[in-house]
Amino acid sequence: MDLSDIHHLLSERASAFLQRGTHDLFIDGQWSAAHSGQRLTTVNPASEAVIAQVANACPQDVDRAVRAAHRAFHEGPWGRMRPVDRERLMLRLADLIETHAQALAEVESLDNGKSAAIARAVDLNMAIDSLRYMAGWATKIDGLTREHNVPFAPDAQMFTYTRREPVGVVAAVVPWNFPLLMALWKIGPALAAGCTIVLKPAEQTPLTALMLAELVQEAGFPPGVVNVITGDGPGTGAPLVSHPLVNKVSFTGSTEVGKLIGHACMDNMTRVTLELGGKSPVIVLDDCDPATAAAGAANAIFFNHGQVCCAGSRLYVHKKMFDRVVADVADHAAKLTLGHGLDPGAQMGPLVSQEQMERVCGYIDIGRSQGAEVVTGGGRAGQRGYFVQPTVLTGVQPDHRVAREEIFGPVLVAMPYDDLDEVAARANDTPFGLGASIWSNNLSKVHRLIPKIQAGTVWVNCHSTLDPGMPFGGYKQSGFGRDLGRAALDSYLETKSVFIQL
Ligand code: ADP
Repeated sequence: MDLSDIHHLLSERASAFLQRGTHDLFIDGQWSAAHSGQRLTTVNPASEAVIAQVANACPQDVDRAVRAAHRAFHEGPWGRMRPVDRERLMLRLADLIETHAQALAEVESLDNGKSAAIARAVDLNMAIDSLRYMAGWATKIDGLTREHNVPFAPDAQMFTYTRREPVGVVAAVVPWNFPLLMALWKIGPALAAGCTIVLKPAEQTPLTALMLAELVQEAGFPPGVVNVITGDGPGTGAPLVSHPLVNKVSFTGSTEVGKLIGHACMDNMTRVTLELGGKSPVIVLDDCDPATAAAGAANAIFFNHGQVCCAGSRLYVHKKMFDRVVADVADHAAKLTLGHGLDPGAQMGPLVSQEQMERVCGYIDIGRSQGAEVVTGGGRAGQRGYFVQPTVLTGVQPDHRVAREEIFGPVLVAMPYDDLDEVAARANDTPFGLGASIWSNNLSKVHRLIPKIQAGTVWVNCHSTLDPGMPFGGYKQSGFGRDLGRAALDSYLETKSVFIQL
């Protein structure tokens, strides 16, 4: 499908946005081309057709955006605005996103490959709810007052209190799997705290961030409060995260890049939140209904084509029901309909890029070469678009690369186990610790297992469930800090202790 073939399928706003063809940077409330004049192309991964050209921001553009955010923080009306007015602006932005949710979902689908219907139901609803949730915090940021206990001035009269202050300029660097949603997970708490932001979407999926910038403008945020710069990792992301005027970096992406960013942040003592990779276990206990567990396990890995940091990519099933559950998961996989994200019948779209498709197929081949058996799937689907068959592997040993490394695609490794202690140890035998799910109705076993699992989230009889108020993040090499919830807000605030001797 070419772009001209699909305009009739799109809402007016999505069509008008795409018809523009080229898109600029949003800095200080204005649109401008990159200083270098360079552009990047973005393709529809279902058809491989170019859908837009975006500016490729160079270090001069990064500097301009950070300085705009710095000015907006220190000099503009934003810093003097009452929290209730910040909240109102955030709610207006959430309303605008809701009004244009269909258009945003369509553009997300074209840029990323995911189903537009799923993007509307999941990505957009979650983005809107998360922004509204964080808007509510703007008016609830409190310090505390306390009686002093200064040991060397016991008789002094002292007024001691703490203030929570916004950390300052935030650089938000986000990935391509949930482009708009990840942007709002960062923008929401940053705005609620009173920070200003430079957002860099992933080079594969820059478009909804640019649509969001238009809505930021429509909502009436002062210039420089939210800036959006497009570009790649080394040319745009790296100078952004190491800019000395950036006070906090909030990153979601691979563990490899997260480590680079963590190092860069240490040089300037920039605050940093890193939400990184995973190899999340799905643990099926022997009491549970095999059909329910299999449907849950299939959804845990195949949702968003496996391009989910907390995807349930390692399935551990009690040996007495291993064959039955694996057969059912494979059956679910084989029945998934692959197709273009705008096709309402498509349950799974293409992977985001050729590079990602090759990487995922490469892992399936590595699995085979180390002795894995392909129960279903096993490689690319079709010749056009970056489609990969939902794949289930068995015969995998704990030290095989497919059992240890994050594949970030629709590839599940299924392994049998014998007892609870063994499965807890195997679930934790990974450098990652983002999520885990347990499938069982045996409360006693479930509660014994939960404290043993080293992961930021444990789901029971569900997987990848998210709530704007529940913190999300990783143990171990899955990252530092949390998105969502009060915990996320706190990471955009400094605490200042004040002593006033009376
Ligand atoms: P993936 O491996 O899933 O493509 P990455 O971790 O490479 O994800 O990318 C996530 C985000 O990080 C993207 O916006 C990308 O441009 C950005 N990025 C990549 N490399 C760097 C870097 N060295 N410094 C800052 N940002 C980077």
